[in-house]
Amino acid sequence: MSFHSMWAELLPVGRSSASGGYRRFAWTGADADCRAWFRQQAEARGLAYEVDRNGNQWAWLGDPAAGNAVVTGSHLDSVPDGGAFDGPLGVVSAFAALDELRGRGARITRPLGIVNFGDEEGARFGLACVGSRLTSGALTVEQAHRLTDADGITLPEAMEAAGYDPDTIGPDAERLDRIGAFVELHVEQGRALDLSGDRIGVASAIWPHGRWRFDFRGEANHAGTTRLADRRDPMLGYAETVLAARREAELAGAVATFGKIAVEPNGVNAIPSLVRGWLDSRAADQASLDTVVSGVEKAAREYAAAHGVDLDVVRESFTPVVEFDHALRDELARILGSDTELRVPVLGTGAGHDAGILSGRVPTAMLFVRNPTGVSHSPAESATEDDCVAGVNALADVLEGLART
Ligand SMILES: [Zn+2]
Repeated sequence: MSFHSMWAELLPVGRSSASGGYRRFAWTGADADCRAWFRQQAEARGLAYEVDRNGNQWAWLGDPAAGNAVVTGSHLDSVPDGGAFDGPLGVVSAFAALDELRGRGARITRPLGIVNFGDEEGARFGLACVGSRLTSGALTVEQAHRLTDADGITLPEAMEAAGYDPDTIGPDAERLDRIGAFVELHVEQGRALDLSGDRIGVASAIWPHGRWRFDFRGEANHAGTTRLADRRDPMLGYAETVLAARREAELAGAVATFGKIAVEPNGVNAIPSLVRGWLDSRAADQASLDTVVSGVEKAAREYAAAHGVDLDVVRESFTPVVEFDHALRDELARILGSDTELRVPVLGTGAGHDAGILSGRVPTAMLFVRNPTGVSHSPAESATEDDCVAGVNALADVLEGLART
């Protein structure tokens, strides 16, 4: 099946007719449909299909027990109203690259795997890369059991409802030990390739990044009868903190975003009692990130105090800088550079990936495909079909180069 027809098949799954964006959240019906598609693709190619203890899907050419496997893939879940490419491009390209290798009659001596990591975006339970974190041990079973969605459903309950056994989740060292190299192809989530005029890039590093929860607590009261001077309105401290985050990020050459907010009681005619905002911040290095987050927190405390509001700040997740394996990165650049048509720049990225989580345990690399708008996590995310095909061919070259070594 061609890249084009695989892409067309997956395109309607989990797409909201209202927004045009995707709502493929972990362990929901849309997620189940994506998983069924993956299994079907694996079986149609005669690959050995399996689901691991943490709900990640695998398709194998050759016996992974032989070790030193070359694995590629990404994820099929999405952020709320996400785009079509973030994740699925890496999975569809993996199957298409395998077809390309078979078409070439490529000599492959290492086991070749394709993976779909579960719950990469963290849209439902608030923590990204749950499938790869559990497998690598970066997320403990106890922590996983405490994850709950907006309706109070725990991760184990959600897994069980989707037909998976939550009692077996946990670190899977044996599985990771079988992998000699993991290469994730992903749509670029910025404009570096568009600006440089290149179709494909190789990742150098993932910026350190994290999520912090800011709870501003004031006093609920009537919006019509409470004098301004008598209010303890947490929305004011929150609003000023959003602007402070923007200032701090600009000063540090970093990024900082309040993209999610919860308000209580959430009434048009009520002064809020609680405003809970989530800060996402990322920077090229740890020192810059520390400067941004401590600057935002200091400003938030001053604003909260000025409005008679209490503030709690909790770090909910954090991922340190990830430098991809230099030897593998150089090998990718060498394999792709031998194609004179292709110039392959090496880029840093502010987005987290399963490849980043695995990199502590497995030699890992990433390929980026040009995104002409740079927009991601939105229905406007895009890549041209020509660039997608160039990505498939680059991935096939990389897999062929690695799998016969
Ligand atoms: Zn992704």
